[in-house]
Amino acid sequence: MTTTWSVLAKLIALVLALIGLAVLTSGKVLPSPVSAPSESPKIGLYEIDGKVTILTVNNFNDTLLRQNRSMLVEFYNTFCGHCQRYAPHYKALAERLYPWREILLVAAIDCNAFENTGICRDYEIFAYPTVRYFSPDYVCKEGNWGQNINPHVELNELTANLSQRLAAENNTDKIPNYPNLNSLTENEAKTLNKVFTTDSNKKFVILVYEPENSTVGLESILHFHLWSDVQVRRINDINLANTFQIDGGKHKIATVDPQGNVVPYGVTEDTPQAYTATIENLLTAQGFTPRTVKGVKSAVAEAESANNESEHAATISEVLNNKHLVYQADLEMAIRQILLNEVPKVHEINGEQLLALQRVLGVLQRYHPLGPEGKTVIQRLYEYVLNRNETINGAAFQAEFDTLNQTHGPIFSSNHFVGCVTSEHNKRGYTCSLWTLFHYLTVQAARLEVSNDPLEVLTAIHGYVKYFFGCTHCSEHFQAMASRRKIWNVPNKDEAVLWLWAAHNEVNERLAGDETEDPKFPKIQFPSVSSCPQCHKEQPSASSNIATIDWDKDAVLSFLKNIHNPGYISRYGVDNDAVLHLSLDKLRQKRMIGGLFSETDARLTILLYGCCILIMGLAVRLVQMKKHRKKPNCEVLGKA
Ligand SMILES: Cc1cc2nc3c(=O)[nH]c(=O)nc-3n(C[C@H](O)[C@H](O)[C@H](O)COP(=O)(O)OP(=O)(O)OC[C@H]3O[C@@H](n4cnc5c(N)ncnc54)[C@H](O)[C@@H]3O)c2cc1C
Repeated sequence: MTTTWSVLAKLIALVLALIGLAVLTSGKVLPSPVSAPSESPKIGLYEIDGKVTILTVNNFNDTLLRQNRSMLVEFYNTFCGHCQRYAPHYKALAERLYPWREILLVAAIDCNAFENTGICRDYEIFAYPTVRYFSPDYVCKEGNWGQNINPHVELNELTANLSQRLAAENNTDKIPNYPNLNSLTENEAKTLNKVFTTDSNKKFVILVYEPENSTVGLESILHFHLWSDVQVRRINDINLANTFQIDGGKHKIATVDPQGNVVPYGVTEDTPQAYTATIENLLTAQGFTPRTVKGVKSAVAEAESANNESEHAATISEVLNNKHLVYQADLEMAIRQILLNEVPKVHEINGEQLLALQRVLGVLQRYHPLGPEGKTVIQRLYEYVLNRNETINGAAFQAEFDTLNQTHGPIFSSNHFVGCVTSEHNKRGYTCSLWTLFHYLTVQAARLEVSNDPLEVLTAIHGYVKYFFGCTHCSEHFQAMASRRKIWNVPNKDEAVLWLWAAHNEVNERLAGDETEDPKFPKIQFPSVSSCPQCHKEQPSASSNIATIDWDKDAVLSFLKNIHNPGYISRYGVDNDAVLHLSLDKLRQKRMIGGLFSETDARLTILLYGCCILIMGLAVRLVQMKKHRKKPNCEVLGKA
């Protein structure tokens, strides 16, 4: 008897241990690690201590209008994949032009940050990324928002263009210490010693032969203008260059000292980098160094607290364990970004763009996921936009929203992403939440049958993406995909849900493995087999792709309707539950009904089920063992 109980006790202990293990591995207790915080803190896409000067509303005007230098400013949106891909190129440009910084500063501003919305609106940014050039005498006034620079040209071409622009502008009287960018004349050549008599610091003049269509001389001058011991000049005339022993072949540069001694040098390649490397070697061999420049301060990032980090890790863990859940926080973040950033960023909204805004707000006021106050604010905002038949200014729209929010709000229950959390700096976030909101809206339209128009939500989405979505390339791709996939032929609201699902999967396939992908959240053909086995008619293989997956579309439709059902929307991470509908709380508690178990729940259920079978099996075995042991005893007793 004692043996039986001890075996049972061990069994129970084993079951408890297994349950404990399952809970631990479910991630609720042990959050999965977040990627190590990057060594240099960033604002948006750029490091604070990097070569790109970071601008925000706090230092934009001071830097642009009061610094007496030319500026290159990139206006970007952190969430825009194309801006993310472009950032390394812009950093390389800033690195290359760093020695020019007293003359031309390379800077960037994140238009996705709410605080910078006004600046990006005022500077009439229509595409992202936009790079603008501002001359040192730039005056901020209507219609004068800098000159567009095509950022997508190759780095060497871009630096060459910029050097020519600076030479043509000749900002001698606008920028202190502006170098002489003109080519050396015969007269100057004859009186070269003037350089030494007017500036006793100068130890050498460096002459660079610059053939036609080349900017090696210009770029060398700009590169070394901070080196007070030397003056670099360019020579375009080969005959004049010959007088300094430069033949344009073997010898391309020459140094001249105060005594008039000339020493010619060769350069290995005809690139600005080869010229600057050769000259730099000469200068450092003499012990020369560049003088320091009064720096321009990048904006300061707010420090992330350790508390935030652990919350972040817990959120990642939650989402990884519940991959198909839709979160209230994300739906709100998308609406927040639309109302507080994307729409207010537009300078003037009129014509088709205004119609698109009216449609988006119309759909939002019918199907939004907000509480009663949110409903009132969206409703009033919709009416405000409907009543403006001609033009709305983005700033006026923002002011209207602020007033409504102050009167009726708060309308948002959280201010961070949950399902769209990122494990790496600046990935996922808004674009992820926007897809989530779009799917949510198509499903609500199909569920509620408020309108007879099967295209009401798709039309609103199409208009929003076309006119407001601050990811220019995404918008172009989406419009092309919409016409290829015949968006306007979608016959009913269920098909609208499926149209968006299929379109999103097409984008997922295109972006799978892309550098913008978050490694913890790889792009998949959604939903996965583990999230919805019944959605897949066949188990997909490793090589399955969008064309070969055999979907059960009815199952996909009901899966999408389930996960976007307001009763099943997760409130994980919500800070202010009170602004949401109370009735949804009740529905949420019943979330398990309807086959929507989380992965953790499913794992625990299977484990418990397995353990029960194990216990029953062992119990039967114990009873059998007991019977076996009794037999010999009877025989002994009988014999006696
Ligand atoms: C309209 C639009 C067009 C875009 N085009 C581009 C582009 O051309 N280039 C580019 O670099 N980036 C583009 N993006 C951004 C890109 O699609 C992702 O949003 C971004 O890379 C973040 O990806 P993610 O991993 O967070 O998941 P996302 O793709 O953003 O998905 C968000 C969530 O939706 C769910 N989901 C995924 N697939 C589906 C589906 N088929 N149906 C229903 N739910 C699904 C998942 O839970 C997922 O976590 C676009 C975004 C939008 C909104």
